[in-house]
Amino acid sequence: MKRTLRDFDWQGKRALVRVDFNVPFERGTTRISDDVRIREAVPTIDYLRGQGASVILCTHLGRPDGKRSPELELGPIVERLSELLDAAVGYVHDAPGDDAKAAARTLNAGGVLMLDNIRFWPGEEANDPEFAASLASLADGYVNDAFGTAHRAHASTEGVAHHLPAMAGLLMEKEITFLGGVLENPTRPLAALLGGAKVSDKLQVLGRLIGHADGLFVGGGMAGTFLKAQGYEIGASLLEENLIDFCTETMERAAATSTPITLPDDVVIAERIEPNVPTSAVSISDIPADAMILDIGPRTAASYAERLAAMGSVVWNGPMGVFEVPPFHEGTRIVAEALASSNAVTVIGGGSTAESVAHLGLAKQMSHVSTGGGASLEFLEGKELPGVAALDEVQGTH
Ligand code: ADP
Ligand code: MG
Repeated sequence: MKRTLRDFDWQGKRALVRVDFNVPFERGTTRISDDVRIREAVPTIDYLRGQGASVILCTHLGRPDGKRSPELELGPIVERLSELLDAAVGYVHDAPGDDAKAAARTLNAGGVLMLDNIRFWPGEEANDPEFAASLASLADGYVNDAFGTAHRAHASTEGVAHHLPAMAGLLMEKEITFLGGVLENPTRPLAALLGGAKVSDKLQVLGRLIGHADGLFVGGGMAGTFLKAQGYEIGASLLEENLIDFCTETMERAAATSTPITLPDDVVIAERIEPNVPTSAVSISDIPADAMILDIGPRTAASYAERLAAMGSVVWNGPMGVFEVPPFHEGTRIVAEALASSNAVTVIGGGSTAESVAHLGLAKQMSHVSTGGGASLEFLEGKELPGVAALDEVQGTH
């Protein structure tokens, strides 16, 4: 079990907290278009301040590639955070240097300081040990709440943890609890719902879940290659020719274990991906040569919805169709609504699945919506994330 920020006496101490404030902006402006990542970190910051710690925050924003880039400074984020905390937030255009040290030293209990975009320094992505050590010298304890960056071994996500007592923040703890729960002790039956664009993105997660989950349901673009492998004609649908054999073997392996794979039996097709083009729902044996599969069909959606809602837990990664373009969002909407109102433990992978659930206004009704896209997928593949691995173990566990 990983040590959390509750296993440390923070009174009068300085906490270096790695957050993920890599928020989106309205194009060409300094207006934050979605501040959920900032809001998600507030409980950890409030907790630390309440315990008498001063808080030194560090995040990346965008890809400045080791150089200062004025448009990727954190001014708008500092301002928004200050509103959310209802407290002053200091900001130094420095991370490992003298300005940061001076500002950190003079912070009072409950004070909050933001370092500049950590990727302005090349030592960050290089995980340079000296850079990590100088970051560590700012504080007495390290808290990682940046799950979305935990699959990267960078100085502020991994290196620094070797120099300080290293703990999970509240958001990180929630991610580990729910995603880890799916792999280690799920409420059964456990179903996995996989969609999204490509089979190639899901090879390893398929490998991890077959033999572990009690059922696997496939939708999205990846269903095309599976259907082709089963002998269906899929017209102009997304096809990964080189993975047809993999899909055949996966179906065989699934049949030999206790993880039956369910494929769509009807699909929504169109000739183009455009809003409100003519569409039809057809059986998988009736896909015309010029048509593309762009969503699961209504029969499949209803059947997935009903069967998933009856599970003990469901882990979902990848939308059921081209959810960005109506009406191809319908299959995603129907299963999302069923999961939202079910009693199952519902764990939503990050990325576009989280985006579609948020867009439907259903995020609060899920047990957990991951804040990490790539990180949640790697976690579910069974990989050890460097940013999690580097945190201290609670003594007597591992
Ligand atoms: P994530 O971002 O969660 O990792 P992916 O990137 O794997 O998910 O998949 C999301 C993308 O899959 C979406 O942009 C969606 O439009 C696309 N997609 C879903 N179904 C289909 C389909 N039938 N054909 C083509 N693209 C699809
Ligand atoms: Mg994606």
